[in-house]
Amino acid sequence: MAGLTLGHSILICHGQLSRRLLSHECRHVSQYEQAGSIAAFLPLYLQSIVQVGYWESLFERDARAYELADV
Ligand SMILES: [Zn+2]
Repeated sequence: MAGLTLGHSILICHGQLSRRLLSHECRHVSQYEQAGSIAAFLPLYLQSIVQVGYWESLFERDARAYELADV
């Protein structure tokens, strides 16, 4: 894991910052906002991961769709 988003806080591992990763994590911020709170979003997100795995999670697929290419 190179990045983690909790609400409006985005944590990126040292040396891992990229346009693609930052845009991905910003989409997770949007997902938190759509859910209304961290408490509302995290159970949905974690349930998705448990059910179909990280890669196939709807939240991860959505975030990947919003990734900007690195330049
Ligand atoms: Zn993600």
